[in-house]
Amino acid sequence: MEPIIQVKDLKKIYKMGNEEIPALNGISLAIEPEAIYCLYGTSGSGKSTLLNMLAGLEKPTEGTIYIKGKAIHKMNEIALAKFRQKYIGFVFQSYNLIPSLTALENVTLPLIFQGVPKKARETRAAEMLAAVGLSHRMRHKPCEMSGGQQQRVSIARAFVNKPTILFADEPTGNLDTTTTLEVMDIMTSVARDYHQTLIIVSHDLEIADYANKIVTIKNGEIENIKVNKPEERIVSHA
Ligand code: ADP
Ligand code: MG
Repeated sequence: MEPIIQVKDLKKIYKMGNEEIPALNGISLAIEPEAIYCLYGTSGSGKSTLLNMLAGLEKPTEGTIYIKGKAIHKMNEIALAKFRQKYIGFVFQSYNLIPSLTALENVTLPLIFQGVPKKARETRAAEMLAAVGLSHRMRHKPCEMSGGQQQRVSIARAFVNKPTILFADEPTGNLDTTTTLEVMDIMTSVARDYHQTLIIVSHDLEIADYANKIVTIKNGEIENIKVNKPEERIVSHA
């Protein structure tokens, strides 16, 4: 199968004053489409740096990144923004919802940028909120919802324009154990239903266990890649 993301010899060196901090030390990786990956490793190992490069949020110091055959390491900011809008969704640890907007309004945002008409936006956002079990909270604002509910809104927002690839950086980092499993079950099952590629960053083995492939990162390098439950597109913790 043709990889959806192909990374070669990726290096990232952060400069702080005259100190150089090597965050990635030569990463090569092929990501298959329609699979769930976990970038797993301890704090400071380089997981977020790698995720941000894969998602086109930061430029590598060296190396190449192809997504769907496009050289994203060469794109300028405008081309990258368009590319992300079309193909990529994000879920962050801190939800990043807009506090003054309702759940429904937050989820319609990516569709506004895509020029989807109002009625169609609201229908699609409501469907997505139903898919994450929040039909009864559509008119609530973020401060009127629990952490788990807010993260489910942010998952609905990330999925609403049906991106090909979804990136999630420690998506359950602020949630309790029960809510973590709920949110992981929802995120992985929506990804499976839509035939998406999901790449999750985590330092938690229980989260990693949801993935089809676990890529362990150590000191900015890939330590190993483990095939996890290859028969299952998704792991149910129900
Ligand atoms: P992880 O997500 O695995 O915890 P990161 O990718 O955030 O790790 O960080 C990898 C290394 O790069 C760490 O040593 C971190 O301090 C450093 N780093 C990350 N972002 C920056 C930055 N913007 N400026 C300088 N150093 C950074
Ligand atoms: Mg991180």
